Amino acid sequence: MMTFDGFKNLRGRLMQNALLAEYTSFRVGGPADILFTPADMDDLVTFLQLLPPDMPLLWLGLGSNVLVRDGGIEGAVIVTQGAMHDISIQNDLLVRAEAGVSCAQIARFTARLGLTGLEFMAGIPGTVGGALAMNAGCHNSETWQHLSQVEMINRQGKKYLRLACNFEVGYRRVNRQVDEWFVAGYFQLQLGEKTRSLNDIRVLLEKRNATQPTGLPNCGSVFRNPPGQFAGHLIEQSGLKNWTIGGASVSAKHANFIINEGNATAADIEDLILHVSATVQAKHGVHLIPEVCIIGKKAASR
Ligand SMILES: Cc1cc2nc3c(=O)[nH]c(=O)nc-3n(C[C@H](O)[C@H](O)[C@H](O)COP(=O)(O)OP(=O)(O)OC[C@H]3O[C@@H](n4cnc5c(N)ncnc54)[C@H](O)[C@@H]3O)c2cc1C
Repeated sequence: MMTFDGFKNLRGRLMQNALLAEYTSFRVGGPADILFTPADMDDLVTFLQLLPPDMPLLWLGLGSNVLVRDGGIEGAVIVTQGAMHDISIQNDLLVRAEAGVSCAQIARFTARLGLTGLEFMAGIPGTVGGALAMNAGCHNSETWQHLSQVEMINRQGKKYLRLACNFEVGYRRVNRQVDEWFVAGYFQLQLGEKTRSLNDIRVLLEKRNATQPTGLPNCGSVFRNPPGQFAGHLIEQSGLKNWTIGGASVSAKHANFIINEGNATAADIEDLILHVSATVQAKHGVHLIPEVCIIGKKAASR
């Protein structure tokens, strides 16, 4: 059993057996052995240096693209939301944002400066760290298109810069070493027009509200779009809108969204994901690949 004694000099928030349902947009997920929200970058470095080297480690931003199973996560979880939120302009067109800055914030910050390129991020309910890890995107734009370099940190708490061109990046996918994480991104933008960028953001958010379910817990698109097709169309054509397992159902508004109706378990959601994928495979011969990261242990009783 791990003790907290070695961690007493940390300034951030450290919790044992913290329920991850409170840290994911699906509002499901069992406990993490340790959950740490750093006070700032130095605090994060100290935490990593204190962490036993063999302890599994997971990072979370806003938890808007994860399904944490009901048995929770073994080891430590670092949460960047509400922490590491420094954002600054480096020169005329270069903006540095730390991992915990929200996508909405960087979109508005850059738009207000009259810089264009990141308007699309306004509708993505995640952090810069999560957007870097997922190469988040929409409306034909992706996070890594605008990135010049990233600040990384490794398991020992060592920070270093890496050029964006040295990463292999694809659709909702970035290859990074398993023992390094993003602590900040440098975004190279273009000169735009403040009013136009802010208007683009408004239009984009209105469109999202009209086409996506709001108000009930979800993780956005559950499946990646297969090449040349839309996962949502395939799911809808398979007659799966409103399909329900336990407290989880396929959204009537957007078939690639699964909704937690209030009392879903992670197992309900995972079972529904499996059902949708098997049905689409049977009806259309298309193998849907989840975009959501499914992580953690199943509950002992299952
Ligand atoms: C309503 C809704 C709409 C959405 N719309 C879109 C959309 O249009 N486009 C889109 O791409 N996504 C969309 N998403 C999904 C999600 O918002 C994005 O994938 C987002 O980038 C996830 O950011 P996050 O901070 O929540 O990451 P998390 O969900 O917390 O983490 C996602 C993954 O990134 C890893 N990670 C997190 N932070 C770091 C870090 N600092 N370093 C290394 N790895 C890290 C995690 O371990 C995990 O594997 C939507 C989600 C919702 C709920």
